[in-house]
Amino acid sequence: MPGEKLSLYIHIPFCIKKCNYCDFLSFPTGGRNTPLAESYAHALLREAEALRGGCQVDINLNRNSPYLVDINKPIKSIYFGGGTPNILNSEWIVRVLCKLNEIFTIDETAEISIELNPGVYEEKERHRELKALRAAGINRISTGLQSAHSAELKRLGRIHDLTAFLRLYEEALNCGFENINVDLMTGIPLQTCDTFARTLERVLELRPKHISAYSLIIEEGTPFGEADLKSLDLPEEEEEYEIYLMTRRILEQAGYRRYEISNYALPGYECAHNLVYWDRGDYLGLGLGAASLIGDLRFSNTKELNKYLAAPGRTRENIQRLSQQEAMEEFMFLGLRKTSGVRKADFKRMFGRDLEEVYGEVIEKQVGLSLMEEDRDGVRLTERGIDAANEVMAKFLL
Ligand code: SF4
Repeated sequence: MPGEKLSLYIHIPFCIKKCNYCDFLSFPTGGRNTPLAESYAHALLREAEALRGGCQVDINLNRNSPYLVDINKPIKSIYFGGGTPNILNSEWIVRVLCKLNEIFTIDETAEISIELNPGVYEEKERHRELKALRAAGINRISTGLQSAHSAELKRLGRIHDLTAFLRLYEEALNCGFENINVDLMTGIPLQTCDTFARTLERVLELRPKHISAYSLIIEEGTPFGEADLKSLDLPEEEEEYEIYLMTRRILEQAGYRRYEISNYALPGYECAHNLVYWDRGDYLGLGLGAASLIGDLRFSNTKELNKYLAAPGRTRENIQRLSQQEAMEEFMFLGLRKTSGVRKADFKRMFGRDLEEVYGEVIEKQVGLSLMEEDRDGVRLTERGIDAANEVMAKFLL
């Protein structure tokens, strides 16, 4: 819930090469630790240092009287995402983390995650790098396998194969990481129910604490977005739906609880950082393009690399003070992504109004259509509702 704690997101906008489907804010560098990536790490340190006096946001674009956002709260989670955070030598990640430790009060139990691309480390550095990250207090790894099949990975333009993933996974365990997420992707070129079943089987042999299974979205401006759809060899819609149902069935049978539309965890290993987003909690983003939400204030850093490098900490833009109505809508969209849905008590605490008073009619209608269910505690999507999640959520626009 907003107000009590804060989460931090640190964006590393570089990858060895761009994947064919990716429209995230990241630039291909061709290798690790390039001078540009190191300049960027310096800029991150400067941005963090500038937070010592609080987080200044020019709400009225009036640099003479910037608004000071309250960031003086304990940190409950930190997430190094990208891009590819392990494109930077661990030394840089550790330096950023130390800087954050100087500036913020990080909870002893804070979840501190980093995304690692399995194709980045060379054999000789893998152990040293992972050991250094663990020693610095990082306690959760999120790594993208996407598929266990070389042909599928190749079509996605990933830089690793299953072997590289397994080596990273094994070494991460050796270095003391027990909380590991594996990202998988459905609806990708060449995929069938059989190939994805095999991918799931390989991953379940490892029994990671958390598995994400997102379906491929073809984004404009990516190589996939530019290609003729037929040439992509995507699974047919029915097969993709079969894959989706199978994923849920196999993971639930294996003891994973689906706690968000695309996320599964063993009990107690739900991602604390992502839950902050879905609960519409407070988070501050550092780095290029990083987004923040603190109370009713939403803003993000510039997406222009040169601008960011020139003045880190002074490029906050898209500043928006949300009305209560906008905040309520967001709260519903995000909260309904969780299988536990939205708790009535949380809605009341956030907005001082009863959920029924604001959304009673919409909820009644969706319950009547078996798309939602309601009890004394709250409301949530049914399985049918999850299948039509976008349409159901759109009903919560006031
Ligand atoms: S590694 Fe991740 S961020 Fe980088 S290009 Fe591929 S999908 Fe995008």
